[in-house]
Amino acid sequence: MTNIYDLTRDELISWLEERKIKSFKAIQIYEWLYIHRVKSFEEMTNLKKELIEELKANFTIEELSVVVKQESQTALKYLFKLSDDNSIEAVVMKHDYGISVCVSSQIGCNMGCAFCESGRLKKIRDLLPGEIVGQLMKIEEDAKIKINSVVIMGIGEPFDNYDNIIRFLKIINDPKGMAIGARHITVSTSGLVPKIREFAEFPLQINLALSLHAPNDLLRNKIMKINKVYNIDTLIDAIQYYIAKTNRRVTIEYVMLNGINDSKECAYELVKLLKGMNVYVNLIPYNETSHLEFKKSSQKRKDEFFEILNKNGITVTVRREFGCAIDAACGQLRALGGAHKE
Ligand code: SAH
Ligand code: SF4
Repeated sequence: MTNIYDLTRDELISWLEERKIKSFKAIQIYEWLYIHRVKSFEEMTNLKKELIEELKANFTIEELSVVVKQESQTALKYLFKLSDDNSIEAVVMKHDYGISVCVSSQIGCNMGCAFCESGRLKKIRDLLPGEIVGQLMKIEEDAKIKINSVVIMGIGEPFDNYDNIIRFLKIINDPKGMAIGARHITVSTSGLVPKIREFAEFPLQINLALSLHAPNDLLRNKIMKINKVYNIDTLIDAIQYYIAKTNRRVTIEYVMLNGINDSKECAYELVKLLKGMNVYVNLIPYNETSHLEFKKSSQKRKDEFFEILNKNGITVTVRREFGCAIDAACGQLRALGGAHKE
């Protein structure tokens, strides 16, 4: 059976229309799910009995269960169990301006970036839209909060699960769904070029972030395998295409790895690469993981790198560090496969 949280409103409308049921029922069903948050079809009291029966025969209302919750002052990490016993993580970050949540998009990740904990476990499977929506729904219920923004930066490569991510984006942006504004949603990719181009055609104004992490192919090949498939030139072309199509500024993520990509030469190379593009660079303090060969850059090197970008006309920010104490920071998240328990 299908989890009803997998369906966009248009998909629900098609399902209703196939049964000659009026499409506005989709709005009512959505309101029961996303506003009233009912857990059974019987509670949808303004629907006819026959429709309730038909829904019950075709769909489930699936929730994630919380296995572990860890809390620090500014962050909350959830380990969720899925219906097939696999586990995934999501992180809640409390900012002054609101609450953002970092969701996972796959169980494990096949991209195998050398510095990232999430890639330790090979992809077991993609998450369905309802399992990503479910992370948000369960967090709002459990923590009694309203989520203001969402980043798809947890475990997994979202563009390796493109169709489900698109459905997820439509569902959470739907004014009758979770109603999270497109400008408050960010998708981060390690650089799947064809999907960046495809995403340029997607009508919602979602933010795109690119994990670049190196200014040249020699270095990027060493730390991100994906670069051997789509090198920096192709990647920059795709980003330029995306910017031209959408008129939106792209975030360039750059994780600061001590002695690897944090030299002054790297900073100047990065300036050259990005000069004139409508992008801004977000320098990410490295969170140390079980990949012991990677260490975080010193404050001095981060400052120097920052200044070089800044002085040379590249807009640059430094990401605030969240959740280190509970291993809830970027790249520290791990999926636990049901069959791969440690
Ligand atoms: N797969 C996607 C999204 C998830 S990773 C991507 O790679 O973009 C989200 C971000 O965290 C990426 O920029 C990733 O490179 C970065 N990251 C991975 N491991 C990290 C670590 N240990 N410390 C800091 N950032 C890390
Ligand atoms: Fe996967 Fe992103 Fe980690 Fe690379 S950085 S292994 S793409 S989750």
